[in-house]
Amino acid sequence: MPLSDIANVVIIGGGVVGTAIAAEVSRFYDDVFLLEALPRLGLGTSTRNSGVIHAGIYYQKDSLKAFHCVRGVPMLYEFCAAHGVPHERTGKLIVADSESQLPLLEDLRQRGEGNGVEGLEVVEQRFIRTKEPNIGSPVALWSPNTGIVDAEALVKALARLAQANGAYSLTNTRVIGAEVKDGLALLRTEREEVAARVVINAAGLYADDVARMFGYSEHTIYPCRGEYAELLPHARNFVKGLVYPLPMPTGHGLGVHFTKTTGGALLIGPNAGYITQKDDYENNRTELSVFYESARQMAPSLKIEDVRLSYTGIRPRLVPEHVHSFVDWVITPDPQWASVIHLIGIESPGLTSCLSIAKSVAEMVSQRL
Ligand SMILES: Cc1cc2nc3c(=O)[nH]c(=O)nc-3n(C[C@H](O)[C@H](O)[C@H](O)COP(=O)(O)OP(=O)(O)OC[C@H]3O[C@@H](n4cnc5c(N)ncnc54)[C@H](O)[C@@H]3O)c2cc1C
Repeated sequence: MPLSDIANVVIIGGGVVGTAIAAEVSRFYDDVFLLEALPRLGLGTSTRNSGVIHAGIYYQKDSLKAFHCVRGVPMLYEFCAAHGVPHERTGKLIVADSESQLPLLEDLRQRGEGNGVEGLEVVEQRFIRTKEPNIGSPVALWSPNTGIVDAEALVKALARLAQANGAYSLTNTRVIGAEVKDGLALLRTEREEVAARVVINAAGLYADDVARMFGYSEHTIYPCRGEYAELLPHARNFVKGLVYPLPMPTGHGLGVHFTKTTGGALLIGPNAGYITQKDDYENNRTELSVFYESARQMAPSLKIEDVRLSYTGIRPRLVPEHVHSFVDWVITPDPQWASVIHLIGIESPGLTSCLSIAKSVAEMVSQRL
């Protein structure tokens, strides 16, 4: 095979993470390819989420989630401003049902501050009412740096940048097999074989399957669906920003919350329910009344006739349903093939963290080329 036919870097998976990596790596190297199974970039989890720029409050200290989220927030705000990606620093309230939950809010504040999150403040009813007249909580944690971003526009901006740097994005290109021979990774797609010096596995829900193609079977992804409801257009101002309950004690989600989107919608959700198929977005949807009841605990005057079901997304969780511990992302070289880098279990806050993850992965690439 002539050397010119060998890509420097092939990224498997054109979600926000893979596309951010393509944009970053292509600043330093030519012959960078992004292979995406679906007809467009970002059609997977990257555009089926809450679109929240998380501040970094929830994650265990010194975890990859905490590090990349806190480092990624200013990078993302700056990127969005520079590249015309719709976004807004809305701030966020994490609300308690009663004063007796104040210690839980304090714990969250301390955890966030330990992670380097700035500006966190426990606030009382007057502050809450000024921001959100329909929220009944007596006390809350206020996070001023949390915000929202248009995820689809973000993926598009990253793709434009990658293209301007000379990277190639191939959609409708699913990787179906892989091996490493004489230090080169050979990837099989439905149409052809691609050789690469470095491969990045950013395949989202399927990153465990792609890792197995290289013989790395350490991690299994358990798909965990998050479903949304939303307010009807006439009722979208019922909540003005981001209002979350305290996080679920199981660790399976942040709790059904109100999220304003950059497009003006007001979402309620996501819930968290394990499923067996990684592409099962719609079977056995949760009833509307379940979302309504959760949301009404924060906003007692909400009317069920103002709410309808909305879209769903699927989390690539690394623990099964009965395990309730914190679980971090896996970003690691393949133990057998140093030129292959896996990103597995990149659930929330992966959208917020995409630029920080890309920076670290580009550093790993530079040690290999
Ligand atoms: C309900 C929900 C709410 C969330 N809310 C937030 C939030 O508010 N803020 C936040 O920061 N994060 C949030 N997240 C997390 C965030 O959406 C993800 O961390 C992020 O989108 C992961 O991006 P990705 O590129 O790794 O994955 P994906 O977007 O899934 O991209 C992976 C891509 O790989 C492709 N692919 C898979 N297999 C192959 C193959 N064999 N060959 C070629 N291509 C392949 C897929 O088609 C897909 O496009 C949320 C997630 C969910 C599910």
